[in-house]
Amino acid sequence: MDRRTYDHHWLQHAVSAGAEFHPNSAVTAFDQRRREVTTAKGEKWTGRFIIGADGVNSRVRQALAKARTIDEPAHSGCATALECFVPRREGSLPRCPAIYYGYVPWGYGWSFPYPHHQVLGIASLKPKIRCRLKDGFREFIASLSSPDPGALRIQSHGLPYGNYLRNPGYENVLLLGDAAGLADPFLGEGIYYAHRSAQLAAQAVIESRAHPDAAAGRYCDSFRRTIYPELRYARAGRQILFSLPPNFYFPVLAAMLRLMPKFCEETIQGQRSFKWFRRKETQAGAG
Ligand SMILES: Cc1cc2nc3c(=O)[nH]c(=O)nc-3n(C[C@H](O)[C@H](O)[C@H](O)COP(=O)(O)OP(=O)(O)OC[C@H]3O[C@@H](n4cnc5c(N)ncnc54)[C@H](O)[C@@H]3O)c2cc1C
Repeated sequence: MDRRTYDHHWLQHAVSAGAEFHPNSAVTAFDQRRREVTTAKGEKWTGRFIIGADGVNSRVRQALAKARTIDEPAHSGCATALECFVPRREGSLPRCPAIYYGYVPWGYGWSFPYPHHQVLGIASLKPKIRCRLKDGFREFIASLSSPDPGALRIQSHGLPYGNYLRNPGYENVLLLGDAAGLADPFLGEGIYYAHRSAQLAAQAVIESRAHPDAAAGRYCDSFRRTIYPELRYARAGRQILFSLPPNFYFPVLAAMLRLMPKFCEETIQGQRSFKWFRRKETQAGAG
């Protein structure tokens, strides 16, 4: 499904459940002490609970970090992603979602088919790539024999890639999804974690109605039991894989797919947790 359609679907759900939507009203500041957000229109809002679901450049996260009420991870973990839309020409591009390794260090490329166009993208961990990402993307596009890369409109985005927080909240302020760095540190997928963290936060808010300042504690507890181990072990796996030269990523992944096809497929599709990696690691440690 197209991302705009997907987001619009959930926006309609929220509005029909009673949420107020204020378009074109970006938050420009968040006062952590007063629990108050200021918008570009000069409005000021406060609430019993503040949910920071404002994406990879979250103002709410920045304000909490500045006030030292959350601990930023010691390791860096933000990726730059380049993406473009290519018109579909029969036979020129894969008809199934495909992921490619080897074009950039510490990252991967993708090709996702839509009815009328193809999305091509590439992402890599910022400190590892510097200016090589564009070159890697051009090489990747050329290898798919798609149109002249110079003629395409390439967009750049930030992507959390391992900078997830251990405690994504403070008192009655909760950070969700990309704002808390919750994209998979290996595959970059964050939609599942955005939804899952929202579920955990909603539960914490419901249970903390009488004591709003207890919400972050509840949320962080359930987060550390469920999402946090997934991200840690996905990150550990990618540290091992991406320490190899890029030309080795593919043979190693291909060998894993050959040896454990069901495990790998279900993990990539999100049907199986990265915890299986933890169990394997524990067994290996015991053996
Ligand atoms: C190129 C690219 C491709 C991706 N592909 C996939 C994929 O195939 N599958 C997958 O699972 N994940 C994918 N991801 C990751 C995924 O998009 C994110 O992890 C996910 O969207 C996170 O959801 P979110 O709600 O936390 O943040 P977002 O989707 O970024 O939503 C944040 C919202 O906050 C709003 N906002 C931001 N700042 C302010 C402000 N100051 N004031 C008010 N509002 C603000 C934004 O307008 C936006 O509506 C991709 C990411 C990128 C960059």
